[in-house]
Amino acid sequence: MKGRILTTGGAGYIGSHTTVELLKAGHSVVILDNFENSDRDRVARIPLIAGTADVRLVEGDVRDAQLMADVLKRHKIDAVIHFAGKKAVAESVANPLLYYHDNITGAVSVLSAMREVGCKNLIFSSSATVYGDTEMLPTRETAATSVSSPYGRTKLMIEEIIDDTAASLATFRAISLRYFNPVGAHASGFIGECPRGVPNNLFPYIAQAAAGIRDYVQIHGSDYETSDGTGSRDYIHVVDLARGHVAAVEHLLSSSADYAPHRKVNLGTGQGHTVLQVLHAFSKACGFQIPYQIGPRRLGDVPASLADPSLSLALFGWKPELDLEEMCRDHWNFQKRERDKSNIGMRIPPVTHKATSDHTDPHRAHQLTSGSRNVLN
Ligand code: NAD
Ligand code: UDP
Repeated sequence: MKGRILTTGGAGYIGSHTTVELLKAGHSVVILDNFENSDRDRVARIPLIAGTADVRLVEGDVRDAQLMADVLKRHKIDAVIHFAGKKAVAESVANPLLYYHDNITGAVSVLSAMREVGCKNLIFSSSATVYGDTEMLPTRETAATSVSSPYGRTKLMIEEIIDDTAASLATFRAISLRYFNPVGAHASGFIGECPRGVPNNLFPYIAQAAAGIRDYVQIHGSDYETSDGTGSRDYIHVVDLARGHVAAVEHLLSSSADYAPHRKVNLGTGQGHTVLQVLHAFSKACGFQIPYQIGPRRLGDVPASLADPSLSLALFGWKPELDLEEMCRDHWNFQKRERDKSNIGMRIPPVTHKATSDHTDPHRAHQLTSGSRNVLN
């Protein structure tokens, strides 16, 4: 069944890739974003990649429950994929109330609006961070949870809020997708991750070092009990992750009413890679050795994280297809385009948004058009 899907935070890194895959699968999409960590240009590229303009943009804040309810009603939304929120672990430690306020209020607002208008299907962006330093590797969804940052706690709290909401509404169904480590970019190089400031995560840091923005990569610890002593993670290509959302939402839209009200499902590959393995693979992708130095462990890091991905396959038939080489190739391709654009002082010209006929829409819903020109040339 094809649906009308609302992607909150659909202009962001994972949301934009998911919106593309939803469109390619024949769904129509409304993006709601306040652009606090993204920009309009990225949204304008979505129809170009997806090859369809069946996507609208509402500029607004998920914490505005009235706006949420209006959007759900006006666009007759069948399912919500809730990406919007803050995601920086260190920032959450420094300013926990900001994270509790934004992430929890946002989720409560989404749920309240869904309840008000009777929208029954929710996918929530959760995280493998809810497993903490688990001894169960690979990790199944039945593993005990344990969080070590306010960010991680917001993910766990929201999962629990969804549990309670689903228990109180007979037909409401939700899937919390626990992402492992999303990396890479769309193969076109048109969309990818654009961290603001100094990146904390490994892939964007390596990519910036390769592009000459950083001098070298600092490896956080080489004395872990892993194959080469550096930390190991389950990296997943963002396009695979996006397709996992499509599979999950189609599952919600089609499955029978006796399905569990709220599932928690890993999205990972089941393959672990150490920091050194990633560095070597990325160096191969860009054709030169990226400089690095070994430093001390980073506070709060777990030695290894690895998904057991069998539940996603059993429940909605999804499994990842892209390997580390493809993750590095696509991440580098995107980073290179960004570097080349800034080196020649070019900004991508903004695509004009052709407004829908409803000029009275207070929330500025725009239908995005691919236009006649190639905005990337
Ligand atoms: P992102 O920052 O690129 O995207 C989030 C989007 O939400 C941005 O476009 C931002 O402008 C928007 N947004 C933030 N607050 C908003 C608000 N109050 N109202 C409307 N829009 C708002 O992040 P991402 O990497 O795409 O992550 C998406 C989701 O996945 C987040 O919930 C994040 O916690 C979760 N997640 C991400 C990762 C990761 O490594 N990227 C891992 C696990 C979970
Ligand atoms: N890492 C590193 N140098 C960096 C960033 C990360 O050595 O500049 C390591 C980090 O210690 C961990 C792995 O790379 O072992 C993945 O880190 P990331 O922050 O990307 O993911 P997370 O730790 O949140 O799973």
